[in-house]
Amino acid sequence: MRVLIAGAGIGGLTAALALHAVGVEAVVLESAREIRPLGVGINLLPHAVGELTRLGLDGELARLGIATRENLYCDSSGARLFSEPRGLAGGYQHPQYSVHRGRLQTMLLSAVRARLGEDAVRTGMRVEGFDQDADSVRVGISGRERPIEADLLVGADGVHSVVRAQLHPGEGPLLWSGVRMWRGVTRMNPFFDGRTMVIVRGSGDGDAELIAYPIGPASVNWVALVPVGEPGPLPGDAHWNRPGRAEDLLPLFDWNLGWLDVAELITRSEVLLEYPMVDRDPLPHWGHGRVTLLGDAAHPMYPVGANGASQAVVDARVLATELSGGSPAGLARYEGIRRDATAEVIAANREMQRTGGTRSPRELARITETYRRRTTAQGA
Ligand SMILES: Cc1cc2nc3c(=O)[nH]c(=O)nc-3n(C[C@H](O)[C@H](O)[C@H](O)COP(=O)(O)OP(=O)(O)OC[C@H]3O[C@@H](n4cnc5c(N)ncnc54)[C@H](O)[C@@H]3O)c2cc1C
Repeated sequence: MRVLIAGAGIGGLTAALALHAVGVEAVVLESAREIRPLGVGINLLPHAVGELTRLGLDGELARLGIATRENLYCDSSGARLFSEPRGLAGGYQHPQYSVHRGRLQTMLLSAVRARLGEDAVRTGMRVEGFDQDADSVRVGISGRERPIEADLLVGADGVHSVVRAQLHPGEGPLLWSGVRMWRGVTRMNPFFDGRTMVIVRGSGDGDAELIAYPIGPASVNWVALVPVGEPGPLPGDAHWNRPGRAEDLLPLFDWNLGWLDVAELITRSEVLLEYPMVDRDPLPHWGHGRVTLLGDAAHPMYPVGANGASQAVVDARVLATELSGGSPAGLARYEGIRRDATAEVIAANREMQRTGGTRSPRELARITETYRRRTTAQGA
């Protein structure tokens, strides 16, 4: 069986590795001419680290990332409100890693090329659409007359998925929480033990929030979340690489935390990107016949639970398990397992975003525990 995967993001590359591990041939078609280490930091939760460990990538991950030990909630004077142990310290079987997204993607790309062959990832191949019948699927590529034929197509082409748009025409704009996020990475010594993620809240309702965590020994990733509008359909568009401006942020973050100079964190950032907090409602079905979706293409979600990349990795393993028997019928079983599970994570992230403004330690304990319970099972 030969599977085409649209998109060489975290989800598409992991799917190629997982399919190869069960003896299914995979080819990844990526629209970018060159895969460069773009983005800033992301988190891999223990359920995703477990999957990547089973693919033999645990050593690489440990070298790439920081094993996060604690989430610490603080107010804007730097005082501790509540702390939640994470990864091994939180009783999980595997660590949680904070990593640079682009470096993780590059590591997965090298693993795919080493295991599946150089030609397994084809860049400069923008998927335009597909048609299918009982025997095969044919995938159209921009600028090429002849489609590529295969047994199955997996749309892992991200939040603006072309495969999803063909499967579900007329879905409308992304759904916006009303929050804009500025993201950056600053070379500086991390705070506390170098393994702590801090979540700092302004003092009033609707105030800005800052999340910061180390992704290397001298590298701190940060996200500034600022409510600027009402939730609803996103006006405009969402681009991962849109630059942001420090001037827009600094007046909102004149906080003196004592252990972190927030103005320095923002002004010395090596990159500064801006992105709206968006998701979509869960789909009633992902694909049909010989075509399905994976990762952000299937279930874009708010990043509040740090679950986006992790859920894509779990999708990849379940897809491979269900296709290991060599029958396209495995696609329906994959969707059956993953669709409800990821819908639950979308809902849990929305709930976390809605209730996230609380500063009461007791409420924070309840919210984080509820999130953990609702989403840990979805890693299975
Ligand atoms: C450039 C970029 C930067 C990002 N930066 C961050 C970040 O800093 N923080 C964060 O939390 N999340 C970031 N993300 C999103 C994050 O990677 C995903 O939420 C998560 O990892 C799930 O990954 P995915 O593989 O489903 O989708 P993605 O990581 O979005 O990967 C999708 C891939 O498909 C490719 N593609 C798109 N359309 C087509 C097409 N028609 N044909 C072929 N290929 C196509 C894209 O170029 C991309 O490589 C970024 C995504 C991208 C693409």
